[in-house]
Amino acid sequence: MPSKTLPHWPPPLTADQQSHLLLLATTYAFAHGLTYLPPNPSFPPTSTISAPLSLFPTPFPRDLFELAREIQPAYNALYARIALDWDFLDKVMGGSVAKVDDFQGELWRGWKSVRDELVQPLQLGLFRSDYLLHDTEDGGELQIKQVEFNTISSSFGPLSQRSGELHKYLSASTQRYFGVSPQLVDPANYPVNDALHQLAAGLADGWKAYGKPEAAVLFVVQDGERNVFDQRWLEYELYEKHGVRVIRHTFSELGKIAQVDPQSKNLSIPSSLAPDAPPTEIAVVYYRSAYTPNDYTTGAEWQTRILLEKSRSIKCPSMALQLAGAKKIQQVLAEPGVLEDFLLGPERPDVGFGAGAGSLTQRDVENLRKTWIGLWPMDDSPLGKEALELAQTQSDRFVLKPQREGGGNNIYRSDIPKALEELAAAPREQGEPEKKEGYILMELIKPPEGVSNWLLRGGEGQARKADVVSELGIYGVGLFGGKAAENVNRQAGFLLRTKGRESDEGGVAIGISSIDSPLLVD
Ligand code: ADP
Ligand code: MG
Repeated sequence: MPSKTLPHWPPPLTADQQSHLLLLATTYAFAHGLTYLPPNPSFPPTSTISAPLSLFPTPFPRDLFELAREIQPAYNALYARIALDWDFLDKVMGGSVAKVDDFQGELWRGWKSVRDELVQPLQLGLFRSDYLLHDTEDGGELQIKQVEFNTISSSFGPLSQRSGELHKYLSASTQRYFGVSPQLVDPANYPVNDALHQLAAGLADGWKAYGKPEAAVLFVVQDGERNVFDQRWLEYELYEKHGVRVIRHTFSELGKIAQVDPQSKNLSIPSSLAPDAPPTEIAVVYYRSAYTPNDYTTGAEWQTRILLEKSRSIKCPSMALQLAGAKKIQQVLAEPGVLEDFLLGPERPDVGFGAGAGSLTQRDVENLRKTWIGLWPMDDSPLGKEALELAQTQSDRFVLKPQREGGGNNIYRSDIPKALEELAAAPREQGEPEKKEGYILMELIKPPEGVSNWLLRGGEGQARKADVVSELGIYGVGLFGGKAAENVNRQAGFLLRTKGRESDEGGVAIGISSIDSPLLVD
């Protein structure tokens, strides 16, 4: 049934019911590793805090949830094909964006400098496509609209699986949340989330394709990371279910110790703790880092990135796949004919969907497009001129986005005109495009009103009731670029993160969102 409205939520709780739920939720979180390191952790850590949580699951229309899951393999295929299309990446990322955005410029130029020497055809993507519910406000049905598509460091899969399990437990152990809404909190309305298993299985697929049982998976991590349990769960799952060893290093450590054999191009990492043991060969390089300029503060990190890129290890993601995830690409895809070419073009490679035309259909094109909201370039094309006019005269309808990941970088509504003035005034070299060309303009998605939840911040002893907005992320796994028989393309579980409506941004890692789970409603 099409979704028009969401139920009023959550049902009322007495103070005693609320504090009982809080006790059950926090103890469950501690016992099940639904946790974070506290601010300024000691090493080794001596304490943890619960991850930011919600006490209830949040209602989400079943048909839209199912649509988002159904289209994920087509999205995986789309982004895999983008990563394999050098001309397209050169045109979109090597143009103005590389000139005005230092980070994307380094990434594109670095990739260009090594792409003819690459010895590993396979690329691995652990993706996440993010959506908000959109209320058209004309009495029409709710829709899902894509916020962005992540191709690097798609986090929170393991913690979101645990959060869904937490809500099921809370419901079961409190007689369906104290009987407050027995119809809705029926166990049949809690979808099973296997994101932890699926994402680990994706890394294991890459490891198997590499073909050496003694090789390990390398997690490239950030210094000072507090979301370590989300990463460790993947490590433990790889060890327990797949017999795969994981080692973790930061870029700066790798700069000192990573070795790539000049002949075989095998990447190996020696251990200073076991100096007599042979260095560990790396099957898969998995980045939980490398997506923000902060990960490259000394410049030497780019050399390390390129060293790893040139090795025989399978990269998750490759530099090309990271470029494919840029917001500029999302905007260009929305221009007429571009999506059609990627999904239906006769020359397109097999990426787990069969090759060329016929593997994906017009219906896939329509389904993907249905999830998009207005996107404009900020260049001097006719569309760009239209965007500038809209941004200056109707800024309340828009968000202006730079080519950044990780939250906290976007410019909203009435802040846009001033930001554009500052960009126009920024000094630039002769022949350099205007700075605004490194941005895209996006129409604001309007989440439905009237939904609340109890949100708990990690480390706090109180949950707060807030009017909320929930962002659904669907994970995907793609292994592509090699022989057709090696291709992997599947949907891989989901994340629902929920923030107070007053906040424009929604990152869990930047402390704004809570890890939630969907309660499906018809
Ligand atoms: P990042 O790469 O930093 O995560 P996003 O594009 O995901 O950038 O934007 C960050 C947050 O801003 C999102 O999680 C969402 O809460 C909000 N946001 C982004 N785009 C829109 C939009 N078009 N409408 C409403 N909110 C948006
Ligand atoms: Mg995001």
